[in-house]
Amino acid sequence: MSRQGRSHDWGFPRWRDYDGAGRAPQAQRLCDRHGCTKPGNCPAPKAPNRPERWYFCEAHAAEYNKGWNYFEQLTDEEAAAQEEQETRGQRSYERARHWAWGEGDGSRTRAELDALRLFDLPPDTDEAAIKAAHRRMAKENHPDLNPGNTEAAQRFQAIQAAYEILKSAAEQRAQQQKV
Ligand SMILES: [Zn+2]
Repeated sequence: MSRQGRSHDWGFPRWRDYDGAGRAPQAQRLCDRHGCTKPGNCPAPKAPNRPERWYFCEAHAAEYNKGWNYFEQLTDEEAAAQEEQETRGQRSYERARHWAWGEGDGSRTRAELDALRLFDLPPDTDEAAIKAAHRRMAKENHPDLNPGNTEAAQRFQAIQAAYEILKSAAEQRAQQQKV
């Protein structure tokens, strides 16, 4: 049994004194990747076409950007499977159209909708269902269970990033409700 490694959390923006040895400590933004202590000076969009940014070190920015390809380019196999589904029935076409035009009930951001799409969930999905889908897919694609499988590793990263978006959006909404 392998637990989900904490090192795969993308975490939240962190600020800390970076390398203060020998000179006045200088506040510098750290890489947003959980556990990384390098300066985060490479902005990376939290989702395609969104203004929100993570700030990663160079290495993690590159890794993260690779992960996002999953959102934009399905593998050939997945694309073929989707095409087959679309010729078989209208359901996925309807869904694709829904994603293209619909924005749910307007309470979710584009980034959240993209993230939900990764989990194959509709816009009105509740938090428990998101959690369950995340747990299942993270397990399926976990690097420990798929050694050497770079596609699974990329999916795993995309899954973690998507879940982070949904989680922080839910937290933000909860905050706003309190105010
Ligand atoms: Zn880093």
